[in-house]
Amino acid sequence: MNNDHTHIPRVLVIDDSELVHRLLKVRLQAERLELFGALNSKDGMEMAKTLNPDVILLDIDIDELNGFDVIQKLKEDTETQGIAVIFISASGDTAQKVRALDLGAIDFIGKPFEAVELQARVRSAIRTQGLVRMLAKRAQVDGLTGLWNHTYFDLRLAAECSEARRHTRPLALIMADIDQFKMVNDQFGHLFGDRVLERFSAIFSGGRASDIACRFGGEEFSIILPNTPIREATDVAERYRVLLQNQTWAEHPGVVVTASFGVSDLASVGDTGKGSDMVSAADAALYQAKSAGRNRVVVAEARSANVRVDSGR
Ligand code: GH3
Ligand code: MG
Ligand code: MG
Repeated sequence: MNNDHTHIPRVLVIDDSELVHRLLKVRLQAERLELFGALNSKDGMEMAKTLNPDVILLDIDIDELNGFDVIQKLKEDTETQGIAVIFISASGDTAQKVRALDLGAIDFIGKPFEAVELQARVRSAIRTQGLVRMLAKRAQVDGLTGLWNHTYFDLRLAAECSEARRHTRPLALIMADIDQFKMVNDQFGHLFGDRVLERFSAIFSGGRASDIACRFGGEEFSIILPNTPIREATDVAERYRVLLQNQTWAEHPGVVVTASFGVSDLASVGDTGKGSDMVSAADAALYQAKSAGRNRVVVAEARSANVRVDSGR
């Protein structure tokens, strides 16, 4: 993930003139950025996807596709629509500037380049872009725990479902709910409750790098496990269950906080199953884990009765 201190901004220049590339290289030499170049529109659009630059400096007259065509394509594609585009053009034509801005460009730089102005405009675009990315990320991350939030979970689960189907790979989902958490709050205070949420979240995000741990809401968590058969996901849930149960709390020695788990997978919801069906199936299994006495893992069976696989303690 891009961190403000470690992320070196990337700037991609799309222009058919080698001279422009050389000039920009010299003029932007002292800036803290990595410069990439494409001499035609096709390469430029490919590089926009693969490099995911912060800023694109886009010429108007390139080749069979002009800058307006290119920005339209960039803005249509979810992968590239967030990139800030600055047009560079020799023409001072107002109609062109208006068209560029209306198509989503954030700025317009005239050729020949005024070195200081060029640098300032690129810096400004990079700054804005950093803020936009930070806000976009913040809108998807839970403030207390740092896990992905429910909004992100929904988007990601839908995406992972399509990926799993396309490549006929397994996909599993774990839902977890802290046991008697209201009592934990009531007895030891809300602050301690928050500490429990933070510690459990750290444990859930310490799994495989490809697993996606989310705060589903309140004291409920959801973990998406791409490329994982349900049997394996069940073992993962059982490992988490034991880990949580074994946590010790310096503030309240002797206190044990546990959670109940429901596990489902894409196969168990049938050919037409969606992410929301996986959630319902895991939720139903979780409900069974609660009714059966909590602190246990229950697996959703393929559209039939749920089976308890592991009891607590
Ligand atoms: P069960 O075992 O059936 O899940 O019981 P429970 O008490 O965990 O479930 P219930 O849904 O009754 O209560 C959930 C509690 O979680 C109530 C709510 O105050 C607490 N909670 C939700 N979000 C937060 C939070 O951000 N911080 C703290 N400290 N508590 C929270
Ligand atoms: Mg709950
Ligand atoms: Mg609960």
